[in-house]
Parts: sequence; C-alpha cells; structure tokens
Amino acid sequence: MRVVRTIADLRAELASARAGSIGLVPTMGAFHEGHVSLFRAARAECDTVVVSLFVNPAQFGAGEDLARYPRDEAGDRRLAEQARVDVLFAPAAEELYPPGYQTWVEVEELSRPLEGVHRPGHFRGVATVCLKLFTIVRPNRAYFGQKDAQQVAVVRQMLRDLHLELELRVLPTVRDADGLALSSRNAYLSEEERERARALPRALATRDPARARALLDGLEVEYVEVADFDPRVLAAAVRVGSTRLIDNVTLEGDE
Ligand code: AMP
Repeated sequence: MRVVRTIADLRAELASARAGSIGLVPTMGAFHEGHVSLFRAARAECDTVVVSLFVNPAQFGAGEDLARYPRDEAGDRRLAEQARVDVLFAPAAEELYPPGYQTWVEVEELSRPLEGVHRPGHFRGVATVCLKLFTIVRPNRAYFGQKDAQQVAVVRQMLRDLHLELELRVLPTVRDADGLALSSRNAYLSEEERERARALPRALATRDPARARALLDGLEVEYVEVADFDPRVLAAAVRVGSTRLIDNVTLEGDE
C-alpha cells in the first residue's frame, strides 16, 4: 500500500490505474469494522482501491470535536493494508484548502433537516470535500455507509445535479455485539456512557418514532424522525455526555 500526501502524487500514482476500475472510500480515519466493510466491498469490485483519510475541517462547526477527533494513522495504515487497499491518500488540510480557498458546494434542501438543523454548514463541508475527492481520484465507484443516511442522500443528489459519472455504493451499518453502530466517536464514551448509548439502537429497532422516543427518555435527544431518503429511514441523534451519536434503521427492504 502506498501512502500519498499530495494531489500531484496521487494523480501520478493513479495514471497507470485508469485502464482498470478505481474504487474510492472517503473516510476520516480511526478505522473500525464499518470502514473495513467498505474497503472489502471496494476490493471485491475494483481493480484499484483508494482510501482517503482526511479529517475535513470544513464539515465541523465551531465548538464541535475537530481538535479532539480520534486520530491513529499508524493503526489505520495497518487495517487498510490488511484489507489490501492500494493507496491511502492522507493529505494535510492545506493541501485541500490552500490559503485563499473560496469554492463551496451546497445541496440545498437535503442538507437542511435532521443533521442540518443541529450542524449548520456540515453538509456543505461534506459535499465540497466529496466533490474534490471525486474530481481528484475520478473513481468509477465510491463507497459510503448507510450509517450516515443523510450524507448518502446529499452525495447522491450532488452526483445527479452535477452530472458526475460514478456509481454510488452504499453498505449496511456494521454494529457491535451490543447493537451500537460502530463509530470512531464511540471511543469518547466511558463504560457508563456506553451502557446508556445502547438505548439508541434499541429504540430505533422498534422502527416506530413514538416508541423510539419513549425508549430514549432520559437521554438528550436531538431528533428522532422518519426521513424520506432512498430507502426511507428512522434516524436519530442523541448526546451521551459530551459525545454526539447518530444512527438509523431502514424502514423498507433489508439493510
Ligand atoms: P467516517 O470516517 O466516520 O467519516 O466514515 C467513513 C465512511 O464509513 C462513511 O461512508 C460512513 O458512513 C462509513 N461508516 C461509518 N461507520 C460505519 C458503520 N458502523 N458501518 C458501516 N459504515 C460505516
């Protein structure tokens, strides 16, 4: 696996790969089995697998956890290498947002509800960094987790609106044995908080907003709502201590 820091080096690295198919998995690192499931899917379907590891400052609001977001590049390298990733693209923030940067992508309507209410500007940062990665890597397929259902909806809309020719592949949410969806942010939870956090998957498993709200009584709930994405989901965000967790279950079809 090659670790690449600059756009120029990545382009050079991928020049000879363009005869075959390229798969891209955008991530913010601190890899867990959820990330690895995306790497494996890309490995099975593409000749060359590129994973980006970039904690995107543009998708964090003031007062969010950008500074303390978990970072473990050595561990990430090992997991990516084990999953037979070909290229790990890990640029510095200035590589993607050099001084004087001023262009942003806004997917207007889909960015507004749910996460958009509590994290204004979040999806502008997500859409922008995804478009940058798509234009730099020019993948045939890009891999995302259903865990971030609204993100999938935003990216899908952007692909359509901007006529981008790449296939969006969405993989089911990987959970721990106790039901909690794997997330890099789970590392913030104390044992006692983790115990309380288990109410989130239990509540969503009812697939019923009213029952879910009742089961989340006592937690700090930001939203529990049915969202008309494709597929429709019951999605929720809660705060457990200082940690913000999101999760969702699909309401039609199998995950
Ligand atoms: P992140 O590094 O948290 O930005 O996530 C990178 C990608 O992995 C996103 O497409 C996420 O939706 C996906 N992902 C995160 N957690 C999980 C999970 N538990 N199961 C499946 N995919 C996940």
